Amino acid sequence: MSNSSTLDLKSLYGYLLDHSLRDDPLLQQLREETARDPLARMQIAPEQGQFMALLVKLIGAKNIIEVGTFTGYSSLCMARALPENGYLLCCDIDEQWTDIARRYWEQAGVAHKIELQLAPAADTLQARIDAGHHDRFDLAFIDADKENYGRYYEQCLQLIRPNGLIIFDNMLWSGRVADPGVNDTDTRALREMNKFLLNDQRVDISLLPMADGITLARKR
Ligand code: CA
Repeated sequence: MSNSSTLDLKSLYGYLLDHSLRDDPLLQQLREETARDPLARMQIAPEQGQFMALLVKLIGAKNIIEVGTFTGYSSLCMARALPENGYLLCCDIDEQWTDIARRYWEQAGVAHKIELQLAPAADTLQARIDAGHHDRFDLAFIDADKENYGRYYEQCLQLIRPNGLIIFDNMLWSGRVADPGVNDTDTRALREMNKFLLNDQRVDISLLPMADGITLARKR
């Protein structure tokens, strides 16, 4: 018995997708459309979208914050998992990418659950805090500029309820966080975030080696 994973995740990835991914034409189409963008790597992995939809249902989320929407894959997955009267606040600054997202929300019949705020996410979140919306959200997904993860985290922590969940994307950053030779701004920010979360007693955490590393933090 080993206390570390002995799985070769790369060689098993095809098997994992073949035996667990419940795909559909709309998700497929969005992945194909996004793949033509030079920054397509910013899209979350398909099994991650499915996992996040499962989390939405598991915690019975009704109100969600997304920081970083891009072309809408994660928001599409989460919005579909929300109940009909669910609400997803999407924060992004890019009109072109989110125009693609809007098109897919329409096609999926979930546009009525989503409010897109085209503005710096920190401003959008601060406005909600100032309006007294503390503890009003059940889940937050943070997947935007890495330098501001710490700031988004503090804001989301105020806006989600106790027992609510914050999901951080890219926490393993293609392995760069663990490579002392890599010291660019984004890598350092993610490294600091991981270090900070390890000791932050306001949350329970788990860092999953799925996709590019996903940290789940439950607000105590
Ligand atoms: Ca990401």
